[in-house]
Order: sequence, then structure tokens, then C-alpha cells
Amino acid sequence: MSDLRDLYQETILDHGRTPRNFRKLEAATHEADGDNPLCGDKIHLYLQLDGDKVSDISFDGAGCAISTASASLMTEALKGKTIEDAMALFERLHETLTGQGECDESVELGKLAVFEGVREYPLRVKCATLAWHTLRNAIEGGKNATPATTE
Ligand code: ZN
Repeated sequence: MSDLRDLYQETILDHGRTPRNFRKLEAATHEADGDNPLCGDKIHLYLQLDGDKVSDISFDGAGCAISTASASLMTEALKGKTIEDAMALFERLHETLTGQGECDESVELGKLAVFEGVREYPLRVKCATLAWHTLRNAIEGGKNATPATTE
């Protein structure tokens, strides 16, 4: 398992250092701010929806390696997906990280599985889910979403 753990850590460090889709999205139809005061992570999420499909998604802001990597991997995972797919993925990830909730076990985490190890560090779970809470706020609140709550 330690090789797998190294690979997971490498992926998180890579995305933390060189985040993908880290830019402003001028054509965004939905935006929201996310704030994790426990760690000091702040992100701004841009979402461009075409019907119920994610045609583009990006983010900027500043945070720790885990929150940045999580946002980066989330944007990579969600392009071309529907909102329903995105929320199913969020539930699956949330359950993986917290052991709480019921979700569709058939949903594949794919690359997001790199965050499995984070569940051993409860304080960092908020870092790993910040981008996802912010995404949900963006979808629900449109441009004027209030900061994401982190439970
Ligand atoms: Zn953090």
C-alpha cells in the first residue's frame, strides 16, 4: 500500500503546485466564493453551464496544497459532466472522506481517490471538500452565492 500512498501524495503535490484550470473564466454563468477559515483556504469558483452540463469550470484563489489540489482535480473531473453527475461524485467523495452519508457505491471516484488518505486527518477533510461545497453554492446561488459553509 505504501507505493499507492506515495503515488497519491505525488498527485496531490503535483496538482497543489501546478493547479489545472487555475484562471478566471470570463464566460462564467455561475460563480461562488469558498472560505475555510480553519486552514485559511480561499477559492473563487467559476462555472459555465450549458443547460445542465458543465461546459467549462475554473477557479482561482489561495489555499493549502490539499485544497488547491482538490479544486484542480475537481475541475478536471467535471468538464462535460452533468450537474447530477457532479453532485453524485461529491456525495461519493464526501462519504469516502467522512464515512457519513449514503451514496451510490457504483460512482467511480477515479483520480479523486487520491484523497482517501485525508480521512485520517479530520481537519484536512474541510480542505479537500471546500471546492465541492463552493461548487454546490455556485450551482444553487448563481452569481451572488454566499460563501460556502464547511461543516
Ligand atoms: Zn487547507
